[in-house]
Amino acid sequence: SRAGGLFISTLIFALALSTTRRRQDPVDDLRAAIDAGEMVPYYQPVMDISSGRLIGCEVLVRWRRPDGEVVPPSSFIPLAETSGLIFELTNRLMRTARDEVAAVYATRPSLKLGFNAHADHFLNDRIVADVEQVFGGSPIRLSQIMLEVTERAPLADLNEARRTIAALQALGVKVAIDDVGTGHGGLNYLLKLGVDTIKIDKMFIDAIGTERYSNAIIETLVELSRTMKIDVIAEGVETFDQVEYLRSHGVHMAQGHVFAPALPGGAFLDLCEAMCRD
Ligand code: C2E
Ligand code: CA
Ligand code: CA
Ligand code: CA
Repeated sequence: SRAGGLFISTLIFALALSTTRRRQDPVDDLRAAIDAGEMVPYYQPVMDISSGRLIGCEVLVRWRRPDGEVVPPSSFIPLAETSGLIFELTNRLMRTARDEVAAVYATRPSLKLGFNAHADHFLNDRIVADVEQVFGGSPIRLSQIMLEVTERAPLADLNEARRTIAALQALGVKVAIDDVGTGHGGLNYLLKLGVDTIKIDKMFIDAIGTERYSNAIIETLVELSRTMKIDVIAEGVETFDQVEYLRSHGVHMAQGHVFAPALPGGAFLDLCEAMCRD
């Protein structure tokens, strides 16, 4: 029929258009993916290594394409950051994560939920309003939310970042420096930003037992954190020897493949149910 033919040709045109666009403008492609809900949260468990209990998770984004392919963040987060789409992406990711895990909070209100933020998030206070809007009125209290700011990207304005962090903390939100020891911050971020937590990068965890100076760096960070009353999370923990080393050197929280990788929502909720029974 003519209507059928028209439908088919319109469909072909739309497909052609979308493949052209995919080739020509990756920013449009990324924006469309965000709007279509293709950015999905994965959850990596964070453990209390003194008690063996699951205490929360870090949300790590994945791009789940319509054909089922799961794309890691390293292939699209840089573009999201340079294009400014990171604000929309983070906002959508927080909403999706909230909707996925909210039910767990009825039985486990103390579970921590961490998100990665970009340095630019701390240069204006949009993130403060976003977090309040997304989690206010949800079963997840703002005190359970943590935002991680990586040391890998420079913070253009430390004073502004300090103000944004203080505004978040006034709501009860926790702030962490991610990838400590690898980037621009050095001890400066630790001293100036007033964060609640530091995350020791995998690089130092990998070197436990193999490089003396790496052990010294971990021990120095732990000592400094204790003095400053800052929490420490070790990341990228892959062996029991590393867990043992961290435990005996005063690190109480860790995440890594020795416990679990980042899991899709369903698997994380199953794990919570299995591990959260007191
Ligand atoms: P990150 O925040 O340092 O996250 C830790 C990365 O190490 C994650 O990779 C995680 O899956 C991986 N990982 C965790 N434990 C282990 C382990 O024991 N061994 C190994 N080999 N790897 C481990 P992923 O998910 O590919 O994320 C890479 C980076 O992308 C993250 O590094 C973070 O900087 C960025 N990222 C992820 N999600 C987001 C997001 O929603 N927003 C922003 N702005 N950045 C994100
Ligand atoms: Ca992180
Ligand atoms: Ca990290
Ligand atoms: Ca890292």
